[in-house]
Amino acid sequence: MSTENQYAMQDPTKQYPQPEFDKQPQSAPGLTADMNPRPDHGETSYKGFGRLAGRRALITGADSGIGRAVAIAFAREGADVVLNYLQSEERDAREVVSLVEQAGRKAVALPGDIGDESLCKSLVSQTIEQLGGIDILVNVAGKQTAVEDIADLSTEQFEATLRTNVLAMFWLCKAALPHMPPGATIINTTSIQSYQPSPSLLDYAPSKAAITAFTHALAKQVIGKGIRVNAVAPGPVWTPLQPSGGQPQEKIVTFGSEVPMKRPGQPAELAPVYVLLASQESSFTTGEVYGVTGGNHLP
Ligand code: NAD
Ligand code: MG
Repeated sequence: MSTENQYAMQDPTKQYPQPEFDKQPQSAPGLTADMNPRPDHGETSYKGFGRLAGRRALITGADSGIGRAVAIAFAREGADVVLNYLQSEERDAREVVSLVEQAGRKAVALPGDIGDESLCKSLVSQTIEQLGGIDILVNVAGKQTAVEDIADLSTEQFEATLRTNVLAMFWLCKAALPHMPPGATIINTTSIQSYQPSPSLLDYAPSKAAITAFTHALAKQVIGKGIRVNAVAPGPVWTPLQPSGGQPQEKIVTFGSEVPMKRPGQPAELAPVYVLLASQESSFTTGEVYGVTGGNHLP
């Protein structure tokens, strides 16, 4: 599935698939090939015009979903990219490496679990070694596992969600900042869940609220160095995160119907906002959270 021209004027409510969708359970982390319809990452549509020329970017969760769309867009805007993902997602990551290379940019694949602080440190040092520096850090990787009843939510799951979504972001920012030049940018991925939490996401929603607050605080701390920090808050987006346990399967059928646009967003609709926040075009924007929600706006 893809829209040939994401720049042509058209009705946004009809631009991409609408529910109902088939149930399509898969284990976490999900794979793109098992999704029906296939998400659109801008493969056939995204056009760059040099907004990130020569930048060096580290992107987590870059194999699939929003991170894949960001990697494609960044490469087409002229950036070299390091892609992090989990080892079991190698098949997805290979497709992204190939798309980045087709854009004429360097792609470095560095799989590994970001729940380990030493792995986070080595992602930053490898980025500097292989790309010659780090100008953009994009924290996209995330864990979301729906559990209907607090009685069934384990301490292990709660800790793992916070570790992947919050601690890893902290470790990556901490490792990257001393090497970032003025003009560098950090973009975190929060969620509408930070503001309007679902009852089945008792661990995930607070992890996203922590990302939002961390973004506000870090932005104020580092602007004196000329470094900007922002976050993107997606609403429902059609990615492997959701059918692989992010939602109960019955909610996949109607996924996206709860927003005014009555459909989920596609990763291709998120990437332009990451490009904007990474580029010098957003030079007066820091500590901000940019909602891409299909109409269920941020407060
Ligand atoms: P996705 O499954 O395509 O991407 C998530 C990625 O996180 C995976 O590809 C995986 O590589 C990575 N990841 C998970 N655990 C990891 C770990 N321990 N170590 C390293 N990598 C790990 O799904 P997506 O929807 O594109 O998710 C991207 C981000 O967007 C997440 O932070 C998610 O919370 C956020 N988000 C998604 C939605 C949505 O509806 N899809 C809505 C709001 C926010
Ligand atoms: Mg993935």
